[in-house]
Amino acid sequence: MNVGKEPRPAGSPKGYKPTAPERVADILKRLNQAYPDVTCALQHHDAWELLVATILSAQSTDVRVNIVTPELFKKYPTVQDFAALKPEQLQPDIRSTGFFRNKAKSVVGAAQKIVSEFGGKVPEKMDELLTLPGVARKTANVVLGTWFHQNEGVVVDTHVHRISRRLELTRNDDPKKIEQDLMTIIPRDRWTLFSHQIIWHGRKLCIARSPKCADCPLEDICHAADKTWSTVEIHKSAKP
Ligand code: SF4
Repeated sequence: MNVGKEPRPAGSPKGYKPTAPERVADILKRLNQAYPDVTCALQHHDAWELLVATILSAQSTDVRVNIVTPELFKKYPTVQDFAALKPEQLQPDIRSTGFFRNKAKSVVGAAQKIVSEFGGKVPEKMDELLTLPGVARKTANVVLGTWFHQNEGVVVDTHVHRISRRLELTRNDDPKKIEQDLMTIIPRDRWTLFSHQIIWHGRKLCIARSPKCADCPLEDICHAADKTWSTVEIHKSAKP
């Protein structure tokens, strides 16, 4: 999608282009200053642990997952241990993360495939990761970007979804399309870091309800419709 060819956002001045390279560069610069050293908040020691933690984090919080995983990996230290389980055996250990039946199926299924088809090692390629049960682009991007240091895509979780729309970096609602928009306007070497920075920003300031706009380093270049404080004009269409 080419955001630049879309009609200008409602309530914005003529000529305003929210995805103009200089505005995007300004956002990236400010994120770097505000969140210089951020990385994935899910605790892990290897690619397998990160993959499991990411699967468990769906519809849950990183804090909750970080409570569950240390015990889990003590009980089942290797991918082979998980592959030998029946999903029902795993359910009690991950119950508190929610959706535990599906997650147990995904984790055990992924372990079995990694053991049988990838020699017990988490694959390093997007197309191979996507063949694992329960792994979609978001999870694959977390593992590739955080553990393997490959910028294959942008992680579009609930924070990236909400903030990209508030900042008018996309007008789409579908995570796949949002990712495509972000990959078009953000330099590839920043994809992983941008994801982490926006996720931290979403936890700290740009929260879903009542964002803390008065404290936000992006305030004077953000026109979100649901800002709680603003020194610039509001754009009605810049909604999460
Ligand atoms: S100004 Fe408010 S809405 Fe805009 S990015 Fe900052 S916290 Fe979010």
